[in-house]
Amino acid sequence: MDLERSRRYLGAMGVQVWRLRAADVDTQGPEEIPPPAHQGDTMASDPTDGTAGADWDRLSEAVFSCRACELCATRTQTVFGVGNRQADLMIVGEAPGADEDRQGEPFVGRAGQLLNLMLAAIGFEREQVFIANILKCRPPGNRDPRLEETLRCEPYLMRQIALVRPRVLLSVGRISAQKLLKTGDPIGKLRGRWFAFGPDEIPLTVTYHPAYLLRSPEQKSKAWQDLLKVTRQLREMAGDPGAGVG
Ligand code: URA
Repeated sequence: MDLERSRRYLGAMGVQVWRLRAADVDTQGPEEIPPPAHQGDTMASDPTDGTAGADWDRLSEAVFSCRACELCATRTQTVFGVGNRQADLMIVGEAPGADEDRQGEPFVGRAGQLLNLMLAAIGFEREQVFIANILKCRPPGNRDPRLEETLRCEPYLMRQIALVRPRVLLSVGRISAQKLLKTGDPIGKLRGRWFAFGPDEIPLTVTYHPAYLLRSPEQKSKAWQDLLKVTRQLREMAGDPGAGVG
């Protein structure tokens, strides 16, 4: 994407962009590839495990009618996920909030607007990526997801990732990162690194949640660095010889 357009979006995000001298540019590739975050920790008898091998229609029907945890009693509707089902980039957030619960689409509130700007800053329209959450239903009062809920919901997300087969996964926020990577590490320790996710070892990186960035705008420049890593990785995977520079 052209630099000027990117700068405009960054300006709208409230990120001041400084030109980096060549020596400051992070030219390192993926920093850390620990053993893949495995997908086998779900409960063997989980009713949502019927999603194995499901196509998009079966999967969305399964999510739509899911009653695997108590969130089905308080949701307005399920929030399946949205976007390009063949996306190079897949975003994974935490769980629907009030706006998403009402509209049935992830990231449509204020945080979603910032996410759209963040994507635009790296040259993506919202429609070009696939966006999903760890949970498909809103936890009441936006409380943190409970272990039982994430375990029950996990097969849906795993199947979505398997169907999309993105080149890069971007996990936004602490909860998303901790659940995907099955760790209790703080987000400050997880962001800015690469992990190999799942059996296909999809490059996964973590950044701050846009809702957190709205509260802590001083962290936006770090999020911008994370997004640059994503574009660099995607360009590298697409065979762009200039991907390591800038
Ligand atoms: N926060 C999330 O993590 N996901 C959404 O869909 C909305 C807000």
